[in-house]
Amino acid sequence: MLLRAYTHSPQFIRTTCANFFSSHPLTRIPLAHRRVKVPLNAAAAAKFSTKSAVPLTTKHAADNNNDSNVIPLDMLFVPPGVERNEIKEDMLLPGSNIVMGPYAGDAKIKQVEFKGSSIRANDCPKDGKPEFAMLGRSNVGKSSLINCLVRKDIAMTSKKPGKTQLINHFLINKSWYIVDLPGYGYAYAPESARLDWNTFTKGYFLKRDTLVAVMLLVDASVPPQKIDLDCANWLGRNNIPLTFVFTKCDKRKSGKSGLKPPERNIQDFQDLIKKNYREPPPWIMTSSISNLGRDDLLLHMSQLRNYWDN
Ligand code: GDP
Repeated sequence: MLLRAYTHSPQFIRTTCANFFSSHPLTRIPLAHRRVKVPLNAAAAAKFSTKSAVPLTTKHAADNNNDSNVIPLDMLFVPPGVERNEIKEDMLLPGSNIVMGPYAGDAKIKQVEFKGSSIRANDCPKDGKPEFAMLGRSNVGKSSLINCLVRKDIAMTSKKPGKTQLINHFLINKSWYIVDLPGYGYAYAPESARLDWNTFTKGYFLKRDTLVAVMLLVDASVPPQKIDLDCANWLGRNNIPLTFVFTKCDKRKSGKSGLKPPERNIQDFQDLIKKNYREPPPWIMTSSISNLGRDDLLLHMSQLRNYWDN
């Protein structure tokens, strides 16, 4: 079973927690043709699951006056050391599909230090410490989230997108890194900048052995964007483990605007990608304004890191 593999291989993240595009029959079908017919509502989706479900309670779900959102058991991210049939409701991180297991440790950030900017993957720190890459479309809220995680203004917010093509390493508690990568998809960036992003950032993902996982930031206040789906696809095809970090979950539009609340955008996003994953990738809701998901995301990173370290 997959969970056995998790338990025995220290490289579980690269080998099993990673997604399985290459072996999936739908891998090469463009996303646009892959819309799957599933109920939009998570609670309704649970009814279609053959397995039992656990309720997901988030601040926002509660605000919504909806019946409580429910995540089917088979859509949860189950970490190493936990069997699916052992999962209890209180093991779920709020506003996510992430189950906490025995590898979750001290997640507090006590110290942060800027270690430098690199132009290429080859120039990045070579001390072998584990790292998490923060990636997302320009303006997704990446700098705000990094600042929120470390409780300091270290990442430059609202910098001119398309300009900063550097890999920035922040050393946390002298033991692991948060890596700020250039944002992609800036609408007004010159073609050359977009091409640069491809060769430059993709090189980092393919070469970086100490990469524990990519935190792929996705704006939950807007409908799924093709560029984010393409990025998720590319990471998936290259077996690079990722967590979907939904940003701006505090943004609620009025019913009249015709825009959907974050939970619905997140559900739509999941519906578009779930066929591509044999195991559901972890996802979590965050807001840098309200700090929603901040501590939970750090806990999730701690459990990935601690397993990676062992
Ligand atoms: P980056 O380009 O991905 O680094 O994005 P920034 O962190 O610079 O944020 C882009 C814009 O989104 C800024 O105007 C932020 O104030 C806003 N923003 C970032 N995070 C949030 C959030 O969690 N909630 C809301 N409502 N706005 C956010």
